[in-house]
Amino acid sequence: MALELSARHEWVLQSEIRNMSIECDRVGGINLSQGVCDTEVPPAVRQGAQSAIDEGINIYTRYDGLEELRKAIAAKQKIFTGLEMDPEREVIVSSGATGALYCACLALLNPGDEVIVFEPYYGYHISTLVATQAVPVYVQLHPPAWSFEFASLEKAVTSRTKAILINTPANPSGKVFSREELEHIATFASKHDLFIFTDEIYEHFLYDGYRHIPPATLPGMRERTITISGLSKTFSITGWRIGYCLCDARWAQTIGYFNDLVYVCAPAPLQMGVARGLEALGADYYESLSREYASKRDRVCRALKKAGLNPHVPQGAYYILADISGLPGKNSKERAMYLLERTGVASVPGEAFYDGDGGENLARFCFAKEDDVLEDACKRLQGL
Ligand code: PLP
Repeated sequence: MALELSARHEWVLQSEIRNMSIECDRVGGINLSQGVCDTEVPPAVRQGAQSAIDEGINIYTRYDGLEELRKAIAAKQKIFTGLEMDPEREVIVSSGATGALYCACLALLNPGDEVIVFEPYYGYHISTLVATQAVPVYVQLHPPAWSFEFASLEKAVTSRTKAILINTPANPSGKVFSREELEHIATFASKHDLFIFTDEIYEHFLYDGYRHIPPATLPGMRERTITISGLSKTFSITGWRIGYCLCDARWAQTIGYFNDLVYVCAPAPLQMGVARGLEALGADYYESLSREYASKRDRVCRALKKAGLNPHVPQGAYYILADISGLPGKNSKERAMYLLERTGVASVPGEAFYDGDGGENLARFCFAKEDDVLEDACKRLQGL
């Protein structure tokens, strides 16, 4: 036996998103690469966590989260989607949506199981699948509408397919899956008896009248749908690591046991802060988020257009894929690095979101930033 890393180490490389953040720090630039979301945390959330520490809520919670938080999540889900989840048995609080998906994959996928994923994808989804020894199989979304052929799902399915993964609203494309598309996916999932993993972390970031439709609410889909979401983005608390998984009790207990194994529990006082926020904030808050972010989106899209980097205007989430084919470079990394060196604005090279071709001429810009930072970034981009 030699002292060496496990064979697994090759499956989890440092993400291009983190790489670009490091490059950005090196040149003292403006980081529009990582979705860190450094806008204001709602006071109810902050004060809820501070009081929880003072009140002594500092020890391990139940493996699937504090009762207050599980109840608050279930109540919010009922109000916004009509979906009834039992807070005792069907809500698992985890270490972010990232932790929730990892535990769901550990609980539901066997090594070699195939999972259909839409491309462009969010890289952590792929790394999570690969780390749990599942095999991603890609179906391409085509710009400008990020549509897909229904026939391509049938082409992707094999006897090893166990699940399909949806991210709506999507990172990085900003696509909000339509009811027609989701109904088609639902019929497809029923026909082949597949789980639907759905990452809905951007459920409250919607523009131009687009509506979020949770796949679990479609007829007959509740039992096979594993809904993943969290508050990192909605409450601007990406560093708190609070997310959750909602699913039928048949799966939830084992997902919770994996959560116990990997994380023991999410941070107790921060769970309480999120519970207090969910209790205090209503539709007004979530609608104002969409309005605020629509204006950030428009501002950055205008600047990109002026810079000659044609943007694909997102329907939801808070990223813009823009065409950087006019910049010098052999690939999207070289083009994104040119942009960083010239303007001090960091983006993520499009190839980070593709397994095959498709990303060479794209870069992703995150607009979850305070307005003054965006203004500075826009000025720099326009000076290109
Ligand atoms: N899911 C998607 C699609 C994301 O884009 C991100 C963050 O960028 C996450 C999940 C991470 O969520 P969390 O902070 O809750 O782990």
